[in-house]
Amino acid sequence: MSISTRRPSIPVRVGSVTLGGDAPIAVQSMTNTDTADVDATVRQVADLARAGSELVRVTVNTAEAAAAVPHIRDRLARTGITVPLIGDFHFNGHKLLRAHPACAEGLEKYRINPGNVGRGSKRDSQFAEMIEIACRNQKPVRIGVNWGSLDQDLLTRLMDENSRRPQPLDAMQVTREALIVSALDSAARAQELGLPAERIVISCKVSGVQDLIAVYRNLAARCRFALHLGLTEAGMGSKGIVASTAGMAVLLQDGIGDTIRVSLTPEPNGDRTQEVIVAQEMLQTMGLRSFMPMVIACPGCGRTTSTYFQELAQKIQGHIRQQMPLWRERYVGVEEMTVAVMGCVVNGPGESKHANIGISLPGTGERPVAPVYINGTKGPTLKGERIAEEFQALIEDYIATTYSRRESA
Ligand code: SF4
Repeated sequence: MSISTRRPSIPVRVGSVTLGGDAPIAVQSMTNTDTADVDATVRQVADLARAGSELVRVTVNTAEAAAAVPHIRDRLARTGITVPLIGDFHFNGHKLLRAHPACAEGLEKYRINPGNVGRGSKRDSQFAEMIEIACRNQKPVRIGVNWGSLDQDLLTRLMDENSRRPQPLDAMQVTREALIVSALDSAARAQELGLPAERIVISCKVSGVQDLIAVYRNLAARCRFALHLGLTEAGMGSKGIVASTAGMAVLLQDGIGDTIRVSLTPEPNGDRTQEVIVAQEMLQTMGLRSFMPMVIACPGCGRTTSTYFQELAQKIQGHIRQQMPLWRERYVGVEEMTVAVMGCVVNGPGESKHANIGISLPGTGERPVAPVYINGTKGPTLKGERIAEEFQALIEDYIATTYSRRESA
């Protein structure tokens, strides 16, 4: 099955990155530091950017956080990090943007949640003020609707209307519709206030996989705005990874989504960059983008009774991750390389032949030798204590002789 043609969307420029149109699907992430803590936030934004996050969102929830934004921006720039920063605003965004013009200018995009821009009569004016500041600063805006903070007045109105239908929809269908209406009505209002469609990104995040698929399919059919795709509150560890991938992969396969975020809850003191790696791996395993050489490893079984095979696969993966910033600067197309690390002769040679370079380790009872395959042809056979080091050297050699050097390198 092939991937559907990408849904046509209106491209949006966010600093140096384009979302939508023909641009590659961008990976983004969000910090979990207190934005007012400039040191911690600079460190985490830098980590996320180095891991490959192409946009980084920070929460702007207090005057201190808003005041910190330009300092964060400047400190990052001094270390050569120019990743666009997005400000996440709720409740008091209009006041913060008004009182902190350097923050409004330093951010490359504002995220506004229509469910959290004030209640009743204040809602319209507060939303309008944020949009007007975006217009003055020529900044794009993501209208980011979230299941957990859906505009309750709108939901109530749609529920009432639904109850008067001859055949009412179920409550879940009405709620999904309310998410979409909230996003599209807010986008239409932003356009009336002068924000062009080329500066509008939309998202409608939910926490259930089937809801996500239904909402985004519907949303994609009803507008041409660039879409930010993500499952909100995906959860921790494997549950979060599986849920995000299950939902987003279906939509990406349909050609829906211009930028993605994987909202993983990290382990306490866990590495925030994991969400970036998962997003990249999702896009790469689907054949949508390439970020770094892929290591194909068999799961191992009773034929791999020692831990040597797992250790080698881990070493090679670690080596690739460590070297990739250098390789990316030096070699054109290296991110498309595939490396196979296989545990025995059953599938080892076959899978190794499909990779650019592969190694088939000896399983139990096999001769203690590890044949290497390069571009599908049998190459050197490694043996002894230094198989890992020798295989890494062969990978380095393969890259240097296969991929052309960048002119600047
Ligand atoms: S390739 Fe060999 S070691 Fe790996 S899972 Fe298959 S049979 Fe087991």
